[in-house]
Amino acid sequence: MSRISILDKDRCQPKKCNYVCMHYCPGVRMEEDTIVIDEKSKKPLISEELCSGCGICTNRCPFGAINVINLPEALEEPTHRYGQNSFELFGLPVLKEGSVLGLLGQNGIGKSTIMNILSGQLIPNFGDYEGESSWEKVIDHYKGSALQNYFKSLAAGEIKVVHKPQMVDQLSKVVKGNVKTLLTSVDERGKLDEIIDDLDLKNVLERDMENLSGGELQRVAIAATVLREGEFYYFDEPTSWLDVRQRLNAVKVIRSLADDGKSVLVIEHDLATLDALSDNIHILYGQPGGYGVVSGNKGVRVGINAYINGFLQEENIRIRKQAIEFSIRPPTPEDDGEVLSEYSDMKKEFKGFSLEAEAGKIYHDEIVTAFGSNGIGKTTFAKILAGEEKPTEGEILEKVNIAYKPQYIVSDYSGTAQEYLFENAPTYGTNIFKSEIGKPFELDALLDKKVKNLSGGELQRLAVACTLSQDADIYLFDEPTAFLDVEQRLIAARAIRKIVESRNAAALIVDHDIVFIDYISDRAMVFSGEPGLNGKAYKPTDLRNSMNHFLGDLGITFRRDKETKRPRVNKLDSYLDREQKEQGEYYYLKDN
Ligand code: ADP
Ligand code: ADP
Ligand code: MG
Repeated sequence: MSRISILDKDRCQPKKCNYVCMHYCPGVRMEEDTIVIDEKSKKPLISEELCSGCGICTNRCPFGAINVINLPEALEEPTHRYGQNSFELFGLPVLKEGSVLGLLGQNGIGKSTIMNILSGQLIPNFGDYEGESSWEKVIDHYKGSALQNYFKSLAAGEIKVVHKPQMVDQLSKVVKGNVKTLLTSVDERGKLDEIIDDLDLKNVLERDMENLSGGELQRVAIAATVLREGEFYYFDEPTSWLDVRQRLNAVKVIRSLADDGKSVLVIEHDLATLDALSDNIHILYGQPGGYGVVSGNKGVRVGINAYINGFLQEENIRIRKQAIEFSIRPPTPEDDGEVLSEYSDMKKEFKGFSLEAEAGKIYHDEIVTAFGSNGIGKTTFAKILAGEEKPTEGEILEKVNIAYKPQYIVSDYSGTAQEYLFENAPTYGTNIFKSEIGKPFELDALLDKKVKNLSGGELQRLAVACTLSQDADIYLFDEPTAFLDVEQRLIAARAIRKIVESRNAAALIVDHDIVFIDYISDRAMVFSGEPGLNGKAYKPTDLRNSMNHFLGDLGITFRRDKETKRPRVNKLDSYLDREQKEQGEYYYLKDN
């Protein structure tokens, strides 16, 4: 059996443990060179030829830095390996002109690696990380396959790649000046006006990049990508911070590239968006941080269903113990529950923006989701509940303790994640924290990292964990899914549910991922109005009513997938779209 050993270089701290792995490795004790010290980094190097897979070093390492993995037998030569005891990628997708290809998989499973290879930024080494890699070798390796032509053109500079990076918040540090100047300067395809329209950017054209919100930056980044001329476009998480309407606008704009004959590759964790966006997908499976395998090409519906079911038929691989279950919940009757918090009709006036909230109640043990456009007052409402903002009129009748995770998480903390937890998670260190929060959010892997170096998803996990650790009546999460992968979204949903119920509390979650909302909501509240001008918060009610209200305003209908019951967007003006609109059932039609 082939076996790989992974050493997490961030976690490995030989100065603190004095090479405990070498000390206990039976190979080293018998004077085989199973583990040696790397001259340069002073960290251990584990020989995969000599390692017997006994697992002793894994257990002994005080930092959990070593992972020995038995690879599935079917795997042959890797496509790329970053170095000894580092991540390995198996396989590459083949892009198709005039088509959108989606990549679906956990964080740390190799999606960006694939993008870097296909865009020419990284030359794959086929596992020979000590040798010289070159495009000639790559072209030779793929002789006779579709990838050969691709890499030939790429190496010859005949393919231009345009890329939208994942972390758009960093964009304003690189690109200065106002939005209009930026977009005009990249408009190689002469589509400036059209794209400004499609992505609703008119109002921000005169603004400086550094004054844009996350969602505005995201749309500017998508626009700047689509406007440039190239053959191959890739989008790394194009929908974080966007609301549902903006997500569907982004889908339209990105799909129009394919209609113009371009090859498009997209990484996306919002399943409803990925579904509407892609023609085909590849699922990545393996072990995050260890190895990643690219599945065969699957039609988008079948592929997402396979992911949800946790089983890839063609590959005969189980990627999750259980399927993700979507349930069509019966509407909750009004006034069915024990009131936890209650508020009167309320108003909040800012200069230029006013929010009106309809009186409402929140019950014990429930999860209420809140959705609506960006800039319509969701965060403001959350802050009023949290006591951070005072309403101009009206009041919170039943005062409760609130734990609050803001939308944008502060990341300029200078210490480690562990120090952050000591300061911000009151129950950190207890057994209950370990089992209910630490384990599901995989915090052990973050402890020694500096908070300011955490990835978007890592920071999100840390922030949600700290919020859940507070003792509160209502847990408020503003966009907790941003930068989390599908698995992490589900794990977060389950952890929130468990804690809410065990503490007899409630959660209010602002989010735009419809599949996640469907999975987690007991009830929901709709925000409507004119973004940036005025907003109205309707009282919490059952999901079906809220969705009908919300989707009715947007003119979008969803059906349920027959097999998995997951929500899917209907094509505008399709038979189902028209039928559901006629019946006023924008979301719920039973089995279609
Ligand atoms: P994803 O995009 O799916 O989140 P990535 O392709 O970014 O995953 O990373 C896959 C794995 O490869 C991660 O464990 C990451 O730490 C590792 N990795 C990425 N770049 C490098 C590198 N330059 N050197 C070593 N390991 C790397
Ligand atoms: P959402 O969370 O729905 O995106 P927000 O509640 O963050 O919306 O903001 C709604 C509107 O209120 C926006 O136009 C925003 O600029 C404005 N706003 C929010 N906070 C303040 C404030 N402290 N002062 C003035 N305007 C504000
Ligand atoms: Mg907000």
